[in-house]
Amino acid sequence: MVLLLFGPPGCGKGTQAPLIQERLGIPAISTGDMLRRESERQSSMGKLIDGLLADGRLVPDAIVNRLLEARLAEPDCADGFLIDGYPRTVDQATHLSDVLESLAYPKPLLVHMDVPEPLLIGRLSARWNCPGCGAIYNVLSKPPIESGLCDVDRTRLTQRRDDTVATAHRRLKAYREVTDPVLGFYDAAGGGKVVHIDGNQTPDLVFEEIKQALEVHVRVPVRKRR
Ligand SMILES: [Zn+2]
Repeated sequence: MVLLLFGPPGCGKGTQAPLIQERLGIPAISTGDMLRRESERQSSMGKLIDGLLADGRLVPDAIVNRLLEARLAEPDCADGFLIDGYPRTVDQATHLSDVLESLAYPKPLLVHMDVPEPLLIGRLSARWNCPGCGAIYNVLSKPPIESGLCDVDRTRLTQRRDDTVATAHRRLKAYREVTDPVLGFYDAAGGGKVVHIDGNQTPDLVFEEIKQALEVHVRVPVRKRR
């Protein structure tokens, strides 16, 4: 099985990837981890990646694609794998299709975790902090006793710019702009299949829904070596 896991910021995707890895016994591959590992190895490509990231630049597709290709050829991927947060562009999706085909993997199942936008906004903007003592609150999971005031020193709580509702809206918009064309690619071009699941449930139930989707849609669970 080749599983691509997608979901907007705040949807709980970060909880699902390790669950899937553990319970299905397949590696969860993220391009971020892949780049970090290469940089830790201090290979010549790792040094190149370090330099780009230090300059605040994006790592070009050609490098990500090459690393991914090498990663997917490793033996632990033979029975299937999960890719988290990739592809992010139609170009990358096209390249992934080529790599999957050349390694004789089946077409991917793209699982998208749907969560209503107001809930996502609430989660992404739940963090407040005290400018007096630095205490951090979360209005969903660890609210202050009195709304808007620090429990310790009763200073009025503030939000970092990253935690505001406006930033949450921007992040979700950016996610849609990046993801919609990729979903369109898999829907339209026969590059794979897209399944939407209800991400607004407990992690266990979300996992069960992902597992059911795999059982229904993935008929070739094991890779056939050429
Ligand atoms: Zn305080």
